[in-house]
Amino acid sequence: MSSLTFLGAAGTVTGSKHLLQVNGRRILVDCGLFQGLKELRLRNWEPFAVDPASIDAVILTHAHLDHCGYLPRLVAGGYQGRIFCTPGTKDLCSLVLPDSAHLQEEDARQANRHAYTKHSPALPLYTSVDAARALDRLQPVGYDRPVPLVPEHSDTSDTSDTSEVSDTVEFVNAGHLLGSAYARVRVNNQEIVFGGDLGRYHRPILPDPSPIRTADYLLLESTYGDRLHEPDDDGARLAQIVNDTAARGGKLIIPSFAIGRVEEVLYWLKKLEDAKRIPVLPVYIDSPMAGSALKFYAERANELDPVSRFATTRMTVVSSVQQSKDVTASHKPAIVISSSGMATGGRVLHHLAAALPRDNNTVLFVGYQAAGTRGRALCDGAKELKLLGRVIPVAARVERIDSMSAHADANEIMRWLSSFERPPRTTFLVHGEPTALDALAARIRAELHWTVHIAAHRERVELD
Ligand SMILES: [Zn+2]
Repeated sequence: MSSLTFLGAAGTVTGSKHLLQVNGRRILVDCGLFQGLKELRLRNWEPFAVDPASIDAVILTHAHLDHCGYLPRLVAGGYQGRIFCTPGTKDLCSLVLPDSAHLQEEDARQANRHAYTKHSPALPLYTSVDAARALDRLQPVGYDRPVPLVPEHSDTSDTSDTSEVSDTVEFVNAGHLLGSAYARVRVNNQEIVFGGDLGRYHRPILPDPSPIRTADYLLLESTYGDRLHEPDDDGARLAQIVNDTAARGGKLIIPSFAIGRVEEVLYWLKKLEDAKRIPVLPVYIDSPMAGSALKFYAERANELDPVSRFATTRMTVVSSVQQSKDVTASHKPAIVISSSGMATGGRVLHHLAAALPRDNNTVLFVGYQAAGTRGRALCDGAKELKLLGRVIPVAARVERIDSMSAHADANEIMRWLSSFERPPRTTFLVHGEPTALDALAARIRAELHWTVHIAAHRERVELD
């Protein structure tokens, strides 16, 4: 008997957690943080659905916070097993998890200092020590190599039925982020493909998503299930935004996920500089994590497109807090790339607080903006924004470029599904907001005639 329980990213895009239960064994695939709307963030504080100590193995599809950011809390709650992931994911987790812990600690400190909390004292969701303990459990596994999930000789009993095939996981490159993968899990002679986040076709830096031929059950992300990305314009919009901002003598602030997006933004800026389609401006990477991630990308160039390079002509990776403050205070034309990508935290908040009130500046969003985030509010035309305990008027221009998204759009999802030789018994749609889920479900039913099920939060389904 096996079952699947959706503990996150069901009806929403964050908090990915899928619990697979097989003959009493528990395998958790992804362990992400809820982000965005307060009602979602509060879920991070709820007791975990099962005792973390009762989970036998954890599998990570990639190192984005909405897929791995709950791990320290799970480990603090008693999880003692291994966390399987690719080597690239392990690298990036070594940046993402300590940074997330730091932000949690900082939030708690700020809340206590400014007393804008009902809880006294406010506690962090998890600490740097919890993050370090989670990192110790990471078990890197290369692509395309099935490995047993539970040790062959468990310490319980060796009299069990030896005919039982051990549970395995195999990572297949998803082309969404360095190290990103689908997890192909084989249990009970069933093949379950956890799609994680699906990358895109013909994009710089990352390879195309690998085709999958078979799965008994498929979990499929639906982030852009109701939308198509802008067609590739060879950087034309970006060039226009850079040139417009430079002509107004302003700064261009690009909130960006510290890992993944920064690399693509730099790729395009360098390309436009080389073609003399934009002026050579100072480019500041104000995110220590982004600076470190660039090194990991450079080290794993064999997993990336051969043309990839990650530096512009006048690029500075900002290291010290003082340097960051100097860049924030300066009104000279420059491009500042800083995290977090949805302006939910991080140094970009200081850049936004300084840049938003001036109408010669531009804020450019290059990734998905979840409901409830400051990024979404700005994209929706907010005239003021609550930032760092203050209300900041918005006079700067706000732009977004969707074509730099790391997520497949609806056509790309359908293209990927077309590589299946036979339909999965059920395709579960996860990781999408309701309109995207409904649209994608309708499209898969109409075009492929597959059985599709939109996962609901905390729903349990039997796999038979
Ligand atoms: Zn992702």
